[in-house]
Parts: sequence; C-alpha cells; structure tokens
Amino acid sequence: MKLELSRLVQGGGRLGVLKGLGRTKQLSLEVPGCLLYTHLGTVPHLTQDTLQTLSNLPSVTQVSLSNIAEHQEVLEEFKDGFRKFAGLHDTLLYCSLHDPAAPFPTGHITNKTVSVWGSGGRIELNVAKFMALQKVVQPDWYQSMADGETWQNNTSLKRVRKSVDRTLAHLDECLLLHQNSQELEGVEVFGVVEGGDVLEERVRSARETAKRPVAGFCLDSLRAGSIDPALRTQLITAVTKELPEDKPRLLQGVGRPDEVLACVEAGVDLFESFFPFQVTERGCALCFSFDISPDPESAVLQLDDEERDAAEKTQLNGDLNPDDQTQMTSFEINLNDKRYQDDFRPLVEGCGCYCCKNHQRAYLHHLLVTNELLAGVLLMIHNTAHYHGFFGALREAMASDKVDLLKRRVLRERDEQTERKEQDG
Ligand SMILES: [Zn+2]
Repeated sequence: MKLELSRLVQGGGRLGVLKGLGRTKQLSLEVPGCLLYTHLGTVPHLTQDTLQTLSNLPSVTQVSLSNIAEHQEVLEEFKDGFRKFAGLHDTLLYCSLHDPAAPFPTGHITNKTVSVWGSGGRIELNVAKFMALQKVVQPDWYQSMADGETWQNNTSLKRVRKSVDRTLAHLDECLLLHQNSQELEGVEVFGVVEGGDVLEERVRSARETAKRPVAGFCLDSLRAGSIDPALRTQLITAVTKELPEDKPRLLQGVGRPDEVLACVEAGVDLFESFFPFQVTERGCALCFSFDISPDPESAVLQLDDEERDAAEKTQLNGDLNPDDQTQMTSFEINLNDKRYQDDFRPLVEGCGCYCCKNHQRAYLHHLLVTNELLAGVLLMIHNTAHYHGFFGALREAMASDKVDLLKRRVLRERDEQTERKEQDG
C-alpha cells in the first residue's frame, strides 16, 4: 500500500490516492474518502446488483468483528474467508472491531480482553481469539485490538492512561502473532490511537503507535456525541502532527458532513460511511447541497429549491441536538412528514440515483406510512449516492482550491438554522 499525496490544502487537508491495495495490488482509494459501510458485508437494504447501480463507490468495504465474531465456527468450516462468504468481488475488506452505527454497553474491558456485541449478545475477545478471528475473516486490513472506553463523560486520567497502555500492549501482541502467521501474509494492520480527551495522552499514543510497523492509524474514541467537536479537531490536529505523512488516518464514528469537513482540515483521510444508513433508518433523505459548479443558471434554480427546502426543514427540526445520533440533522428532510404527501419532486433535483430518476417524494412518503420495506431500499440508494457524491465534490474542491466555497455551501443551512434558533431563543 502506498499513499501518494497530490496536494496539501492550506489550513490542513490532504488530497491523494492510496495505491496498490489488496492482494492483487490493483485497487486504489482516493482520500479524503470513506469506506463502504456494511452489516456482514452487505450495505443495509441493498443487494450487490442494486448497489452496482451506484457509481463512484469506494473500493474498500468495512465489516466489523461485532457482527462476524459469532459466526467464527461457520467461517472456520468455510475456509475461504469472509469476502467469498459474503459474495463480494473486487473490493478490499477492512475489519473493524465495532459497528460504528451500533452503540454498545461499556464496563466490560479487562487487562487482557475487550468485548464486542453481536445479535446473540456479548463475546469476549483476548488477543489470541481476536487473531484467530482475523485468520478466518482474511481481511486486507484490520484494526488492531483496542481499549477504547474513554469517551464517557467522567473518564479519569488514570483510565485514559490505561487505555493507551493496554492498546499498545494489544498492538504488540497482535503484531507478534501476525508476523508468525502464514494466513495473514500481505494483510495490513491499523494501529489504534487512544487517549480520550487528554492532549498529552493522545500525543503519547500517536507517537508510540507510529513506532510500530503498522500500515495506517485508526483514531478511536472521538465519535460524534461523545466529545465537543472543537476539542476533537484540536486533538486530531495534535495527533496527526505526530503521525507519518505517508500512512492513512482513519477516523472512527464521525459522519456528519460538517464534522467531516472539520476533521479533514485537521488531517484525517478516511471515514466510515454509517451516516447515510442512520439517515435512512429514520425515514429521512440527505438533501444538503455540495454543488459548486460555476453554471449560474442552475445555481439560481438550485438556490430557489434550497430556500424552499430550508424553510421546510426549520419547521421540522425544532430541537437540533448534535449529541443525539438518532435525531435528524439539518442535512436531511423527513419523508414521514405529511407535507410530502403530494410533493411530486424527486428527493434531490438533478440527482442521478435510481430513486431520484424514478420516484417522487410523495411515493417515498407513501411507502413509509404503509411500512413497505422498499422505502428503506430506495432511501438507502439515494443516501449512499448523495454521501459518496459529497466526498467526490470535496476532493474536487480541494483540487481546484474551492474548499471555502464548498464549506459555505454545505454549512449554510446548518448555520442559518442555528442563527434562527438563537434568535428565537
Ligand atoms: Zn438521488
């Protein structure tokens, strides 16, 4: 794996390509970018055929041990690895510890073990079991075992230090088993940077992890809702300064477009794309604008549309609370709402996805109120297309020095809404 950076944007931000990925070394992944979010290798609601109607999908698929661990015996029997088991082709497999969209209980970490929660409950992993799982999953990349329980409000400094020490100890043990395993030859390990909200511990964790032979870094315990966004950017900036330039940095648990933009500026390269899934599950559709094309005519048309949408959204989002991951954000519209009952526009004018080309908001509203599974399918198609389109637009903006313009576009609705709330309050 080789990270070729083509541009460092002023004020932070790295534009580039990860090349030579996978065992065939044929795949590549553009950064900043995101991984394809899945449950057990499948993008929720979508079959491979449906998924392939979307363009510009990332070449790396994320699966999590929390979903897979309970199927260890089946995979051992199957022998050919999880990619083949899930019917995936031409994609790189990245195996993370937890599912970013599934919250899990805390308080089950010990010196030697971490726990993941699957559909059948808790599974306790020590390094030996963790590595045995990696051998049957046979991913291309995996996140090293980590103690990430530092995001609760009352975390003590002692707990934070322990999480850094234990995560480094787990990494060294993983690397030892990895190097002695034939099955894992050519597989890359991502080291995990911990340190809670303590700057010195974050820096120590980054420095120590960077000394190990890892291919990239996961920035853990900074997920949305658990930490103040401004503090998070500050911590990430400090951490990325300590990390080598030529290895990718993956941030876990952050997906909102405004937070993505801030974290890219702080030096993050990769994200997990669970956000469009969360939006889909609440019956919402992503509709924020990221179009910075210079065509004045379409820009005016779009502005009209956006103003109308923005007015609709204000009335809906009475309480915009960024800490609550289940609540809708200013980047989406809620199709459950009665106002869409006779709205015959597509979800997003000009969107090339299957849903927007063939269906109207009124139809989606109808599917939702009648509890049809097709609602989730169509929303997931659009939300996935929109989200990955946003990352494409971000890279284009970075290449053409238009990041500020893109930021103004993406953040305008959020900021206007905050202003309105302040005026009202
Ligand atoms: Zn669409």
